[in-house]
Amino acid sequence: MRLGTPLGPAPTRVLLLGSGELGKEVAIAFQRLGVEVVAVDRYPHAPAHQVAHRWHAIDMTDPVTLATLIEQEAPDLVIPEIEALATNALVEVEAAGTTVVPTARAAKLTMDREGIRRLAAEELGLPTSPYVFADTLDEVRAGVEKVGLPCVLKPVMSSSGKGQSTLRSVEDSEDAWEHARTAGRVANPRVIVEGFVEFDYEITLLTVRHAGGTSFCEPIGHRQSDGDYVESWQPQPMSDAALAAARDVAERATDALGGRGVFGVELFVRGDEVLFSEVSPRPHDTGLVTLATQRLSEFELHARAVLGLPVDTALRSPGASAVIYGGQDIDAPDYTGVADALAVEGADLRLFGKPDATARRRMGVAVAYADDVGSARDRATRAAGLVHPVPRG
Ligand code: AMP
Repeated sequence: MRLGTPLGPAPTRVLLLGSGELGKEVAIAFQRLGVEVVAVDRYPHAPAHQVAHRWHAIDMTDPVTLATLIEQEAPDLVIPEIEALATNALVEVEAAGTTVVPTARAAKLTMDREGIRRLAAEELGLPTSPYVFADTLDEVRAGVEKVGLPCVLKPVMSSSGKGQSTLRSVEDSEDAWEHARTAGRVANPRVIVEGFVEFDYEITLLTVRHAGGTSFCEPIGHRQSDGDYVESWQPQPMSDAALAAARDVAERATDALGGRGVFGVELFVRGDEVLFSEVSPRPHDTGLVTLATQRLSEFELHARAVLGLPVDTALRSPGASAVIYGGQDIDAPDYTGVADALAVEGADLRLFGKPDATARRRMGVAVAYADDVGSARDRATRAAGLVHPVPRG
């Protein structure tokens, strides 16, 4: 295996589809290995654009636009970093001989909740919450009767809690349906109605498929608010039985998707019982914590795995991450409190450099290590709370 020289006559070139904060760290991991990075997003100056050799701003949901760019850049690897892509174009690109990470089928199946849920529950027989898919308000009501209350309604084409509601009575169906219609990616959404899982805790099990087999990182615990991650920590303590079950579910789900790379397998845990929730065939936002905890972050693991290089998933220290939100609408914000945050023992920051802030937009993250998870969570939360995006002044 050889790597070329970036910007030379025969570079090893990767095309990142999606240039957010996770893409930025993936780009940096490839840069460190001397790989040529071309970063793509729908808007200019996205986080990974700022650390790439070249960048493009295009509509990646348009199959012709996407296929044309891939042909023009002729990358060795196409690396999806987001879900909202013209995945049929990726299937064609793969059939024509370009590697799509981990596979075009994985990108296609996980871009909508229905594909991955049916694969997990119906083909692989993995344990999940009960669920029904619905296209109309009447079907939602029937679905609520079938899966039981409380339950959760989500557009099948959505991520990070967008358009998601928890229903406590069948009368909540109409509001939940309206919320899914107005907040999702499409106007008339197909939705999943799934039974609410009273879990003890939820984890992301980062699973790496690499040249030497499948390896697992230590489980990552996390806390969500409105379906969006606000805090994560590693390791999440688990019983031996629950950890074994989690690894078994993760291995079966990732084997079915195939290819090489990092997968974020999301699981609900209740006692020793583990339910599959979903999987991202790429690094996961809750895995930002690995910037503080592992010898190789999930981003470095992804870069190594997809290049066919050896990986090491060892934990170096317990740690935690906490999200820094925009808090308000601000164009090209300044950041205050950075020095105070970096003075918190064991803490570090990533500011994503997004061109503008909104109240719920993730603008940065604080990560921290400590001797135990509790202290690390305290450090990360304190550091994150000290940083404020503010209007320029
Ligand atoms: P998702 O977008 O499916 O990852 O959901 C975001 C978060 O909402 C999850 O991490 C859970 O905290 C919560 N959630 C989603 N589905 C369920 C469910 N069926 N039962 C309980 N909590 C859920």
